[in-house]
Amino acid sequence: MHIAVVGTGYVGLVVGAGFAETGNDVVCADIDQAKIERLSRGEIPIYEPGLEPLVERGLAEGRLRFTTDVAAAVRDAEIIFIAVGTPPGEDGSADLQHVLDVAETIGRSMPPDGPEKIVITKSTVPVGTAAKVKDAIRRHTDRAFHVCSNPEFLKEGAAVDDFMKPDRVVVGVESEHARQRLAELYEPFVRTGNPVLFMDIASAEITKYAANAMLATRISFMNMVAELCAAVGADVTRVRKGIGTDERIGPAFLFAGVGYGGSCFPKDVKALIHTMSECGVDASLLQGVEQVNARQKRLLLEKLTAEFGEDLAGRTFAVWGLAFKPETDDMREAPSLEIVRGLVERGARVVAHDPEARPEAERHFADLLADGSLRLAEHNYDCLPGADALLILTEWRPYRQPDFARIRQQLRAPVIFDGRNLYTPERMREEGFHYVSIGRPAV
Ligand code: NAD
Repeated sequence: MHIAVVGTGYVGLVVGAGFAETGNDVVCADIDQAKIERLSRGEIPIYEPGLEPLVERGLAEGRLRFTTDVAAAVRDAEIIFIAVGTPPGEDGSADLQHVLDVAETIGRSMPPDGPEKIVITKSTVPVGTAAKVKDAIRRHTDRAFHVCSNPEFLKEGAAVDDFMKPDRVVVGVESEHARQRLAELYEPFVRTGNPVLFMDIASAEITKYAANAMLATRISFMNMVAELCAAVGADVTRVRKGIGTDERIGPAFLFAGVGYGGSCFPKDVKALIHTMSECGVDASLLQGVEQVNARQKRLLLEKLTAEFGEDLAGRTFAVWGLAFKPETDDMREAPSLEIVRGLVERGARVVAHDPEARPEAERHFADLLADGSLRLAEHNYDCLPGADALLILTEWRPYRQPDFARIRQQLRAPVIFDGRNLYTPERMREEGFHYVSIGRPAV
């Protein structure tokens, strides 16, 4: 099939490379010229395990191309995925400007003949967006076309696997033609029997937000339980195991920590609250989820200032982990943004390490790097010499079994604030650390 994917970010690039892998002719279009130039040379602008070989193969075999000419890309394609960003607007609603810009371009670029186009929103968009996309295209053309909603459930860090072997594919359609073409397109991805769930467009649009809001709710729920554990001296990791083995609950997404971040949960919870309010539906459950998360992002800093005082001038802190989660370089809405800035605002210096997010950190923290309040270390142990404490903000694998003797020797005092509960309090006691974690007794 001839496919155009518009927007070549974390989602569009994986989607484009994935469809090229199954033999389709794919062109990925983006308005970011620098990104397209790098991709055309086979350079991957993001860290995503397994993506590079897919892109290399697609390029080498001529099934995958990159362009900044969005109009030409959509003119020549039968199947068009819109995968541009939908950032939060000022009122929390999803900003559809990029999505609708692309829809206008599709309308203006509609050729007079050729197969009827199928236009699919892959971006996470509020219920009702497909209708707006349809109107935007219709303003420029009388030709027949089809709109669909096909939300993407991939996780950064496991995006290629998630896309190539999805738990399920959700597709909202309103024509039999679109349904048949998309069933054919996804057939190679669901050979083991995972379902392609066809439904009406509104239900598909809501499914994506409901999934992310549910996951965010689980995290905030456990952070709330962690707060109670901390108050009474219980251990949230034991409670997690205690409830996660109930098959109605399940073990995933029950880890207490410094709060959820990333490019999806924060903005999608906000956008869903906005949609619900517009529809007169009570959103207080999700407002609570947000409140818990906002508090959770401040919690480690509060625990730290409880020990060192509000004035951190003259102190240095080591930070391990800046990405919002492991296996990605994405720092959008990462708890590290608030925590590192919180330390610096109180006068501290920070030396931080992340295995993959260094370029992102250089962008997000350009001001702190310029004035010297933050330094990025090559190696995680390089953060430690002379630091008053180590803070752990991302559960990268190399941080899970570190050389504790080395940490103890290099820190000014053996103090760890663990925002991801990587170590057991018992082990930390044996190793001689003062150890503060989330929802567990301090050692
Ligand atoms: P991103 O910011 O990484 O990429 C978006 C890309 O769109 C950018 O490269 C940008 O230059 C491009 N773009 C913007 N306007 C454009 C236009 N008019 N024409 C062409 N290109 C344009 O975003 P992302 O993380 O890939 O997310 C894209 C969408 O997918 C969002 O709606 C997001 O909520 C959703 N989503 C993201 C994830 C994820 O894990 N990142 C998972 C599922 C769904």
